[in-house]
Amino acid sequence: MKHPQLIDPFNRNLTYLRVSITDRCNLRCMYCAPPRAMIPRLTHAQVLRYEEILRIIRIGVQLGITKIRVTGGEPLVRKGVYGFLAELGKIAGLTDISLTTNGVLLRDHLAEIRDAGIKRLNISLDTLDPERFKRITGYDYFSRVWEGIEAAHDMGFSPIKFNTVAMRGVNDDELMSIARLSFTYPFHMRFIEYMPIGNHHLDKKVQLLAPEILARIQPLGDLVRIERTRNDGPAERYRFKGARGEIGIIQPLSNHFCHRCNRLRLTAAGQLRPCLLSDRQEDLKGPIRKGCLDEELVRIFLQAVRFKPMEHRVDAAQPEEVHDVMSTIGG
Ligand code: SAM
Repeated sequence: MKHPQLIDPFNRNLTYLRVSITDRCNLRCMYCAPPRAMIPRLTHAQVLRYEEILRIIRIGVQLGITKIRVTGGEPLVRKGVYGFLAELGKIAGLTDISLTTNGVLLRDHLAEIRDAGIKRLNISLDTLDPERFKRITGYDYFSRVWEGIEAAHDMGFSPIKFNTVAMRGVNDDELMSIARLSFTYPFHMRFIEYMPIGNHHLDKKVQLLAPEILARIQPLGDLVRIERTRNDGPAERYRFKGARGEIGIIQPLSNHFCHRCNRLRLTAAGQLRPCLLSDRQEDLKGPIRKGCLDEELVRIFLQAVRFKPMEHRVDAAQPEEVHDVMSTIGG
């Protein structure tokens, strides 16, 4: 049977599924988890099993999903993740599988990640200073993250993209040093506006919007804009003249990219979420555990797509719309 494609009422073709495989994390980043985490953790039974996730992804692929990003929480803390990645790699029709990680467990598991067929990594990196790393994430793991990054580079993972949440008074004095890495390495350094969602506790004053981020790194040289291609994510892409890598600016607040959003999200709790910044989601786990047929899962996918909002309502002036936490949704 030929299935319909995932085209929403605003004519966006949804081909990208971000899959959070766990809400657990081995860091407690200040912008993601509150310090004395009051986040209710999902129980083992509440989290989708790998075979359930794979079933959902196979349905998604029949409906036109071609790109998967595995995320979390921290995906590498979930037991069995490397076997799961290998199974994912066997699904015909997926042309792009990537992994988002904080890098803490990277160094010792790169071979398993590569052997599962993953070539592209996204790594969170908010500072190059070990003391500050500890302050931002709660743990003294900077050197192992950095060793993991160098080892991934040596093993030929490419591109390696970095996510830096730009925060005034926290790491804004380092944005230039972080951007400078794009001269030394072929890395893609991406700066993200802090999104005040979930149980956020950071003062609104930390917000640093894209024009200011660009102004902070501009002294490094001439920034040349790179034309977008069809499969590009949300980042506005640039390159410093003479640099090996790229700069990306992700501006969920100051310049909504909803009109070209091609994503759905599968949360660790088995909910299909059409928009990161809107709490509406469709339950897949319940029907799966009641033994539903694949047709029902197709129906739920189409329902989620039908309700993908035209645009989200979170912006710098009105930040408090989203209550779910990033670690459960999957950033
Ligand atoms: N643990 C993995 C990691 O650290 O990359 C994957 C999950 S993490 C939630 C994914 C990304 O979400 C991170 O790169 C982080 O920068 C971003 N993120 C989390 N909370 C954010 C917030 N409030 N504003 C902007 N970005 C955020």
